[in-house]
Amino acid sequence: MAQRGGPEPFIWVDVVEPQRDAAAAYDRPDAERRTLRLTLSLRVVSAYLHVGSGQLGIWKGRAYQQFARVGDQILLPGSGVKGAVRALAEALSRSCMPHGAGRGDPRPCGPIPRGASEIRLCPACRLFGATGYRGRVLFEDALPESGVQTEIIRLPAAWRPRRSEGRKLYPRRDFQTPAEGGRIRWVEAVPRGATFRLRLLAENVDGAELGLLLRALGLDVQDGKLVAVLAIPMGGGKPLGLGGVKVVQVEVEEWDPRALTWRAADPAEGVRWNLVRGEVWRALRSWLSAGSV
Ligand SMILES: [Zn+2]
Repeated sequence: MAQRGGPEPFIWVDVVEPQRDAAAAYDRPDAERRTLRLTLSLRVVSAYLHVGSGQLGIWKGRAYQQFARVGDQILLPGSGVKGAVRALAEALSRSCMPHGAGRGDPRPCGPIPRGASEIRLCPACRLFGATGYRGRVLFEDALPESGVQTEIIRLPAAWRPRRSEGRKLYPRRDFQTPAEGGRIRWVEAVPRGATFRLRLLAENVDGAELGLLLRALGLDVQDGKLVAVLAIPMGGGKPLGLGGVKVVQVEVEEWDPRALTWRAADPAEGVRWNLVRGEVWRALRSWLSAGSV
């Protein structure tokens, strides 16, 4: 079961034994599987979102951590969005801890031995990849949908995590500007309401894999439509209330291998939820509620 910690601003989701299964090939079409292209609008629903580039800028004589960009254009790198979505998919399913497994945690799925005849992976590694297996969900970089102005904001200095009791997630909370004094850092962030357009490709997925992917995007199917119920935690400053992103629009297209073209698809068709741990989904629905924004 997922559990809430003490007074800390995070929760632990326990790690369970991975449920490994044969991984599908991505280059061989399969009548039971679909290849889908999802075009999503992502809206920042927390006070700010900071996705760092690793670069420092100078503003009014102070160094600050820049938002990710290519040239002058800010963006959400596809790799970063994938990491955020994968983290939710891992927590929501019986998946391994590919990075930083603690003592006693189940071993990760990878690396896959060269020439292995059958590849058995946990649900997250089957979808997002493991060392030696590319994965079948590909994320493009997400560009702003309209002119998004960044701001330089003040945050308390980050602290290092000290212990691990599973997967750490940060429930949504209000952001408060830190008081003057104390150790602080400056970061470039986009404010609430900023939207980004993200395209992702899911190759050769079955209904259960599609269900896990939709859940990890914070989506539920209600009356045949996709509805966001979770905000995806993303970027820096999550313990401080930053980094909640919600899907506000989804278009789904399906590859038609006979006509060799994309056509509009019903996202709810064939979706199954059996890779999703129901108790974790229910807990995250309250902790990461997408709210009404
Ligand atoms: Zn795995």
